[in-house]
Amino acid sequence: MNNTTVPDFTWKEKLCERLLEFVWRFRKPTFLIVMGGPGAGKGTLSSSLSPALNLAHISTGNLLRKEVARKTEIGAKVEEVMKSGGFAGDRITLYLLKRELIRLKNWRGAILDGYPRTDLQAQLLEQMLFDWGLDLPLVVMIEVSEEDLIERLGGRLTCSNTSCGHTYHVSFQPPRAEGICDSCGSELIRRPDDEPDSIRNRLKEYTSKTAPLVRFYRDYNRLFVIKSTNKGGKEDVLKQVLELMKQQSAED
Ligand SMILES: [Zn+2]
Repeated sequence: MNNTTVPDFTWKEKLCERLLEFVWRFRKPTFLIVMGGPGAGKGTLSSSLSPALNLAHISTGNLLRKEVARKTEIGAKVEEVMKSGGFAGDRITLYLLKRELIRLKNWRGAILDGYPRTDLQAQLLEQMLFDWGLDLPLVVMIEVSEEDLIERLGGRLTCSNTSCGHTYHVSFQPPRAEGICDSCGSELIRRPDDEPDSIRNRLKEYTSKTAPLVRFYRDYNRLFVIKSTNKGGKEDVLKQVLELMKQQSAED
């Protein structure tokens, strides 16, 4: 197995795929992509949407980390790719994503958190859904103003103990004792990339990287921009997305 090859699916996995394809002819699944830059709250939104919509929350980052932790053959490759600095290969990520999506328990569909990240990944996903006889997924893009993002990330405190890594926020989620981690007692620090200038750069980089992806979905009329403000909080974002999903299923 070299760097670009992935294992074949087992006969059981292939059978599940055929079964799902059959089921999906009669009952369309919902695939929802959650996009958003640094500090947008993608993970938080996805995990609260999952029970509300009765859809699995699939984070490709978690799938990759799990393979590494389980020390599988794929995991060893992922580790190699990650060490060399790049994102894990597109084929590996797609393989893991597909393996997860064709599990029978996910017949209703899924919320995709962290995928696709690039124009190519979006095309690969489109092809996979097309092969299953399905349309493009719905995309929810969480937008946060630069000001709000600076307040969010700028107030973030991170545990200096790297194996703990807990994060806090000076005003939204302060630690019990000032400057001390609740869970391990280590000193809390402000990460250098949470300084305002660095936040602005990260935001700029994210926007330019995802611009083609945003255009791709916008052209197909599948993109919905949801504004997230510090005043409105998490509940407001969740409410907007649930409202949107209700409208979509009414149109179908
Ligand atoms: Zn800690």
